[in-house]
Amino acid sequence: MSRRSTPHNTRRLAVLSTHTSPLARAGTTKAGGMNVYVADLSRQLAHIGWEVDIFTRRDRADAPDIEQLAHGARLFHIDAGPRVSLPPIEIAAHVAQFTEQVDQIAQDEPAYDLVHSHYWVSGLSGIELARRWQTPHTVMFHTLGAVKEVFQQPEPSFRIAGERRVVACADALIAATPHERAFLIGQYGADASRVHVVPCGIDLDSFHPADADASRRRINAALPELGVMDGPGILFVGRLEQAKGAELLVAALPMIASRPEAQLWIVGGDERDEPERQRLRELARETGVEPRVRFASAASRALLPDLYRAADVCAVPSAYESFGLVAVEAMASATPSVATRVGGLASTIAHGKTGLLVGDRSPDAFAHAINQLLGDAALRTRMGEAAAADVAVYAWNNVAHSILDVYERLLSGREGSPSREPCCPDAIESLLVAAS
Ligand code: UDP
Repeated sequence: MSRRSTPHNTRRLAVLSTHTSPLARAGTTKAGGMNVYVADLSRQLAHIGWEVDIFTRRDRADAPDIEQLAHGARLFHIDAGPRVSLPPIEIAAHVAQFTEQVDQIAQDEPAYDLVHSHYWVSGLSGIELARRWQTPHTVMFHTLGAVKEVFQQPEPSFRIAGERRVVACADALIAATPHERAFLIGQYGADASRVHVVPCGIDLDSFHPADADASRRRINAALPELGVMDGPGILFVGRLEQAKGAELLVAALPMIASRPEAQLWIVGGDERDEPERQRLRELARETGVEPRVRFASAASRALLPDLYRAADVCAVPSAYESFGLVAVEAMASATPSVATRVGGLASTIAHGKTGLLVGDRSPDAFAHAINQLLGDAALRTRMGEAAAADVAVYAWNNVAHSILDVYERLLSGREGSPSREPCCPDAIESLLVAAS
């Protein structure tokens, strides 16, 4: 079969985002930081001149075969398993089929120079495709099963086994923080020389300081349900799942005495999350703060910068965040965050300088920190300005070039040492059989 040709010197990247599409609506069920990251990084690399093809499992019948994400970046929807949304652990059972389909498409395309997999399910496919195509394989996990277990969220042992296999076989692992790198080495036995820390990127052309009053007016027009003109705003942005902690903020609200008129804006989720919103409303009713808790479903990327600027404080009471894009997006918009001292949040926020970190994940502790910021406008301004001045390191231009450095090192053969654990196809095969 003849391969399509490509201009000389153009690098070609296959991106695997098997379990979720980069175009899925961020802030709903299983779509969040990883989706935003894959879409943004792919656009950046395409802008730099790479040809990027992203492969995701088709999770709805009407998804087209190919979508153009940007000039030079395409998204392929691959048939593997039923054309409905499935939990990642069930998707693992369709990884072999996914892998075959991607390989078949690749036969008609110019060869890929490198495979970059996101999340462990993609990593399983990536191992096999990189072996067939004889290309280096880079992996970013975004979340790790063993980390979730530390936070009392049991994960299937099959996931951990799959992650271990991906760690052993990948040529390079990208960790978003030094903490994640240490975890990969300490808990997963990763070879330290293959784990590179590159933070997540933020679109600083969108997320930047600007007139907060104008932002409030625009948000008031676009999301009237938030009632942003009714008082200072404490903003929660994220998926409405327990680990994100919206409930904790509802419980903290009656204790926020410095500005008793403060509102809690809970932004995220879609119609599937109505039961969770009802539960949060009920909780607010019990403590008499229901009128001050406002909801809006997941906001578009275009609205988010205004939303952060309209808020006085952004609260991120998560049980864990491997990076925590929301806090950094808020920082870039000059809105200080109050966040749990965990994972990525502990390294992106400088406590007392660009935001406040809370060690005790309780309503009292969050109320205390939010009170401190809401009650002191000068402190808020100072921290907001310091936060916005601290985010240059997350500019996509820098981040994309750091990722390219990792790729180029692999491509020039300086890494991917032959002494690494041999990645026996049988081992992958047995994992895939176990999965299905
Ligand atoms: N997000 C969004 N609209 C929403 C809620 C969230 O676009 O209504 C985006 C948010 O801006 C961020 C991502 O979803 O870029 C969430 O990433 P984060 O790392 O904070 O959390 P994750 O979802 O990955 O756990």
